[in-house]
Amino acid sequence: MQTKILLVYTGGTIGMAKDYGDQSLKPFNFDNLLKRIPELSLLDCSFDYSSFETPIDSSDMKPEYWVEIAHTIRDNYEAYDGFVVLHGTDTMAYTASALSFMIDNLEKPVIFTGSQLPIGDLRTDAKENLITSIQLASLRKDHQPLIKEVCIYFEYKLLRANRATKINAENFDAFESPNYPVIGVSGVHLEVKEDLTLKLPITGPLTINEKYSTDVGVLKIFPGMNRSFIESVINAPSIKAFIIEAFGTGNIFTDQWFIDLLKEKVAQGIHLIINTQCAGGMVEIGRYATSDALLEMRAISSYDLTMEAAITKAIYLLGQDLTHEEFRTAYEANLKGELRKHHYIE
Ligand code: ASP
Repeated sequence: MQTKILLVYTGGTIGMAKDYGDQSLKPFNFDNLLKRIPELSLLDCSFDYSSFETPIDSSDMKPEYWVEIAHTIRDNYEAYDGFVVLHGTDTMAYTASALSFMIDNLEKPVIFTGSQLPIGDLRTDAKENLITSIQLASLRKDHQPLIKEVCIYFEYKLLRANRATKINAENFDAFESPNYPVIGVSGVHLEVKEDLTLKLPITGPLTINEKYSTDVGVLKIFPGMNRSFIESVINAPSIKAFIIEAFGTGNIFTDQWFIDLLKEKVAQGIHLIINTQCAGGMVEIGRYATSDALLEMRAISSYDLTMEAAITKAIYLLGQDLTHEEFRTAYEANLKGELRKHHYIE
């Protein structure tokens, strides 16, 4: 039997066309997009599509839209074998990571894709990305979907969504997964490395956890940073989780005023999370003396999370009404394949 795929169109460059008034790229209607890829009719699967009422540039993406995408998947879950979400590349890693946290008991593929050049462009990367994403979403083994997680497919690579990050605004090869291997490769054959795919125990029907809170602050530190800027950002009212993008393995400058400020915030109940500015590798609080104070105040480690996963995980967990200890335990746990606590070789 032919597999049935639902395309969920949210916007992004893939479906944009040039506005001849101001020459800028604006999202356009999905019917136009399909007309520009006649090759889709050659695929050995059937598909339907669902589109945002007004397609958006993904810079305008918000958690309300994450919930809308999740609802579309939930409402169509029984009727389709897989889902391909067409999304702008700018915030694709955020949406795809958020979805990985929000959806439980996922037994079908949810593949995010997009493109760097619009579908109508002669040199577009959209066709390959879209066609291969649909093929990946259709892959089955022993009558079961081969992929049972949220992924990003882009420029011949299939990545775990909550491990992926946009690293290039120019190259077609726009995404990378610095701390987890590529799950699949599109070459002459489509190769999915089954041992690397997510295999979580299924405990019931698919559910969507749509509670969230965006009371999350992020501070990227740099040498010689202005004190009043840091104070005003860290003292911002209503922020409940604060992520510091620290140096290297989670190191910070040790000026007493900075340490005192962080201690004060932790004492007030803020979830202080330490991430790293490095794309690869992981946070190891306490490895250097410059993170000793963080160890002492029991800052939460984001280990090897991407920044996108670190932020969306905080947004998701803040919505779950957890105590500080429950938040810490959940944040530092590997919920959906997004995190590893130890080096492969110690
Ligand atoms: N600004 C666009 C977006 O994220 C870029 C893209 O799709 O590549 O929607």
